[in-house]
Amino acid sequence: MYILGYDVGGTKISAVVGDENGHILKKITMRTMKEYGKIGVTDQLISMGEELLKKAGIKEISKIGIIFAGPVDSEKGIIISSPNIIGLKNYNITKRLENHFNVKVYLQNDASASTIAEKLFGSARDFSNFVYITLSTGIGGGIFINNKLYRGRHGMAGELGHMVILPNGPICGCGRRGCLEAIASGRGIERRVLENISAVKNSTIFSDMNPSDIDAKKIFAAKKSGDMFAQLIVEETIYYLAVGIVNIINILDPEAIIIGGGISQEGEDLFRPLKMAVREEMKSMKRPVKILKALKNGADLGCIAITQYSE
Ligand SMILES: [Zn+2]
Repeated sequence: MYILGYDVGGTKISAVVGDENGHILKKITMRTMKEYGKIGVTDQLISMGEELLKKAGIKEISKIGIIFAGPVDSEKGIIISSPNIIGLKNYNITKRLENHFNVKVYLQNDASASTIAEKLFGSARDFSNFVYITLSTGIGGGIFINNKLYRGRHGMAGELGHMVILPNGPICGCGRRGCLEAIASGRGIERRVLENISAVKNSTIFSDMNPSDIDAKKIFAAKKSGDMFAQLIVEETIYYLAVGIVNIINILDPEAIIIGGGISQEGEDLFRPLKMAVREEMKSMKRPVKILKALKNGADLGCIAITQYSE
């Protein structure tokens, strides 16, 4: 049986159709029509779904999974708050889709969905206890304990990005100072570059670059090409990430840490030094913990995975 999945983000929406083993057959992506509010976004989901199924030549689906960039009540199918799309707060996004397609609709936040995808289809298949971390514009994650996603009292567990790494450090979106997200996320890296760029004269690449063109990807590329300034920023980022990861390891003693998100695409340029830094930072608490790269299409598989996962 086929499953229809949606990844609803503030800038774009993807729709995928796949089977229960995690094989994606087709995918389409569109800009989020957020100017039309909740009804507009729901209409968009319905029309994208119809179009996708037609393109894939699929007449029947068994389930629908929606992943959303923000906190949700997955039991009730309600979006709790919507930081990127105005008007979706407290909205039941599943009901109209359920009526239209006549199948059960599952809702989950994006980080939890990616964590479930790792357990069902990724490198966490053989682990009962692991932590998933997404490194992208922000930092989020999910925690599996004894083969179950740990949700916490309000479904808000796994906010790994808001662990303080540097007291009195830069202010974070959450209001605290020195959170891992404020320092080592894509946005945090960009901010550290901009703050330090005027102090250094030896970055051949960044001294003349338009500040709005600077991003984490370019920093990693510049480090590779030998830019000393970029090397410093990357090394600092890896150190802060290692501090955060060792905090997690010391609290939860997981079998593995699985890292996804845009920055994980740097591959061995990130993973090799990060593994060394983590080992170093464990000090006298050293023990084997695997640090692994997440699925490349974790979000696509997340929409499918949440319909297959039960507690
Ligand atoms: Zn924070």
